[in-house]
Amino acid sequence: MLNIKTTTVAFITLLLILSISSCFISISFIFFVLIIALYVMLLAYGSYFINSQFYIRTICSKNNNNKEIAITFDDGPVKEITPLILDVLKEFDIKAAFFCIGKRIVDNESILKQINNEGHIIGNHSYSHSCYFDFFSSKKMTEELIKTEDVIFQTIGKKVKYFRPPYGVTNPALKKAVNKMNYTVIGWSLRSLDTKNKDYRKILNRVKRKLKPGDIILFHDVNPEIINVLRNFIKYALSNNYKIVRLDKLICL
Ligand SMILES: [Zn+2]
Repeated sequence: MLNIKTTTVAFITLLLILSISSCFISISFIFFVLIIALYVMLLAYGSYFINSQFYIRTICSKNNNNKEIAITFDDGPVKEITPLILDVLKEFDIKAAFFCIGKRIVDNESILKQINNEGHIIGNHSYSHSCYFDFFSSKKMTEELIKTEDVIFQTIGKKVKYFRPPYGVTNPALKKAVNKMNYTVIGWSLRSLDTKNKDYRKILNRVKRKLKPGDIILFHDVNPEIINVLRNFIKYALSNNYKIVRLDKLICL
């Protein structure tokens, strides 16, 4: 499988072969540039695509024949939206997973407690969700993860088991941090793009069109349109014989 180790070994081997060969035959400089460019592109691909498994083992879906799927929400809790999501989930008796941002839990502790009391899973999604998170050192990333874990533990008295990288970006520094924390890293197989689309029908059509058994679906509790999307999506999935199960049941971990 393509990962950081095999790619780096192949890159160094190719460079060595080219360097040694250039002592005997004339090799254009362009070949060196092309190999370096390809290597950089592969590193960027591995960072950007969470399901590439390039840097970190990430669970993005689960093969199953039971038409089971799991719903997840990122970036909450948000006072105006998360409780409404919880109402919809309660209405259909569905359990989901919420990957929470540490700093958003502060002042929203009652929502976190409600998420937990209603049987949903709470995961770590960093403390700041900074747009520079991917450039942080491993030490700084670990500090963020610990800070969020502490807030969650102080609020609901439970240790976090799952982590989802902010923006879905992974790199060697993050690998070191999540290994230290002993987290299971969760990605997704179906992205709703609910933070980009403002029209709930577009979001809904996308998830309906792409839905398949074993999917881990990514929503965010930041866009008010999500309430409409969620209710209609659940109705659609259930009427098509999908079983919406909690993340830990889907992945058996
Ligand atoms: Zn996020």
